[in-house]
Amino acid sequence: REWCHAIPKIELHAHLNGSIRDSTLLELAKGLGEKGVIVFEDVKHVIMKNGRSLPECFQLFDLYHILTTDHETVTRITKEVVEDFAAENVVYLELRTTPKKNEAKGMTKRSYMKAVIDGLRSVDTVDVAFINSSRENCLESAVSSSTHGKIERKRIFIRLLLSIDRRETTEAAMETIDLAREMKDFGVVGIDLSGNPVIGQWETFLPALKHAKDLGLPITIHCGEVPNRKEIQAMLDFFPQRMGHVCCLEDEEWRRLKSLKIPVEICLTSNVRTERVPSVEFHHFVDLYKAQHPLVLCTDDPGLFSTSLSNEYYLVAVTFGLNKGDMLQLARKAIEHVFADNGVKQYLTEIFEDAQRRLG
Ligand code: 5GP
Repeated sequence: REWCHAIPKIELHAHLNGSIRDSTLLELAKGLGEKGVIVFEDVKHVIMKNGRSLPECFQLFDLYHILTTDHETVTRITKEVVEDFAAENVVYLELRTTPKKNEAKGMTKRSYMKAVIDGLRSVDTVDVAFINSSRENCLESAVSSSTHGKIERKRIFIRLLLSIDRRETTEAAMETIDLAREMKDFGVVGIDLSGNPVIGQWETFLPALKHAKDLGLPITIHCGEVPNRKEIQAMLDFFPQRMGHVCCLEDEEWRRLKSLKIPVEICLTSNVRTERVPSVEFHHFVDLYKAQHPLVLCTDDPGLFSTSLSNEYYLVAVTFGLNKGDMLQLARKAIEHVFADNGVKQYLTEIFEDAQRRLG
């Protein structure tokens, strides 16, 4: 377990509002309870509950959004989430979030994202690199922070994905794509499609996703959380850069996924907790891993599911009997699937080479 904590890790599937500390949620709920906006006692046990079905998770997100959607809180949770991932030895984090409008708070999608960026800037326990940096800068920092053992402060690379919520209209989804394009110089590297999988139609999001593709923005899609054949096939046809979950696929769809080699973001604890798979042992990770399909271990919502990236690696090691060499290789392979540029990839490669020497 300690070894899984010590190795460098890359997180590619984490939702900002699903990564909030329980203690922060309780504090925010208490504050709103005192203002009479919610009844704290009703909310407390919901926040602390452990096992949750998929529909319950989405009810909880509605509560989270009541608690978190003002600029100051968005900045605070972003800062804390980054610090928590860095404490897990995550060296590259692709953090995704749904830009939100909240007229009562004077919030637009753009100002929401500014609050996120303010959160990244306010992290003080670790060096945060989030503006697209040149290859040279990355190499310089890799050399000084790892090879020569001069680490004074930890460094974490952050890139952002803007999520389209399945409740949104085509116009709202388009607005998110345009915002992503506008924010390319502020660390935004791609688009995610997420939200309650039983809500919304693929055809609603398709024009926006095509627009993103035309703009050269990489895309990741939540796919197959429920057995919706038509949609799963349409998503495979769309051929995104990555897919999350892929739980409810039929044999033919597994075959297509494998032949297309679409990298999969594996969220073990999330899938078990929401009963998408019966147990870690029977998770499709093992089949994809044996088939050498491109994949990456992720948390999805470490706050919501009380997990961490180290814990996800530990689960794989103990359940499937992978040794240290296999685990380091698995962690390192994630470099191939990040949406950041080659300079960042080179930096990450050096970090893993150094880890191999120290921990392999
Ligand atoms: P946010 O985008 O507000 O920062 O993070 C929470 C949002 O992420 C949720 O409202 C939901 O749209 C999305 N999300 C988080 N976890 C999951 C998940 O497991 N599946 C799906 N489909 N969406 C999720």
